Amino acid sequence: MASDFNQMPVHAAITAIAHDFHRRGWMAGTAGNLSTRSKDGKGLWITSSGLPKGKLDTRDLILMGLEGNEIQQRLRDDARPSAETSIHQTIYTLFPNAQACFHIHTVDACLATAKIEPQTQSMPLPPLEMIKGLDIWEESPQVALALFDNRLDVPSIAHEIHKRFTAEPPQIPALMIRNHGITVWGGSLQQTYNRIEIIEFIMSYIARQ
Ligand SMILES: [Zn+2]
Repeated sequence: MASDFNQMPVHAAITAIAHDFHRRGWMAGTAGNLSTRSKDGKGLWITSSGLPKGKLDTRDLILMGLEGNEIQQRLRDDARPSAETSIHQTIYTLFPNAQACFHIHTVDACLATAKIEPQTQSMPLPPLEMIKGLDIWEESPQVALALFDNRLDVPSIAHEIHKRFTAEPPQIPALMIRNHGITVWGGSLQQTYNRIEIIEFIMSYIARQ
């Protein structure tokens, strides 16, 4: 196996990351979705809906545009898009440098976000050494993660993300959805992988405080 996900064929890398996150309990059952921007930049390859992430294979990805529900390319006839695709579409639309976007459901993210007062839209982060891994090089940094309310209708969460980030870009390339999970993006698969490990580390810390 290559030492870096950026060195692997994209579909193989996403499959390996899904298996890794499933082993860690970050993509239990069919939860969560992983995507990468397509080569032409006009769409995204994303894990198709309703599949157990621990058993995902390289054909379980679909090509979607940056908006809408229409599948542009599928490798299996029964593949279907997840409602959470709208969150990925919003991230790639807002951030032209984003090449990968991961969305996971973790116990610690649920516990940590549940500690934040209702109606509060940001989550201050403790000044941990690990924050340097998010490219923040300050003594005792004062940074916060954007926090969104969970809704049954995921496209409405995506709409809220678009609205809020257009008005005020986030300090950190990540966002939290209350009682739901973590979404992180980056300039490559490996960078996004590294960042989500850091965010989850911070969530574990907050959950245990
Ligand atoms: Zn989710």
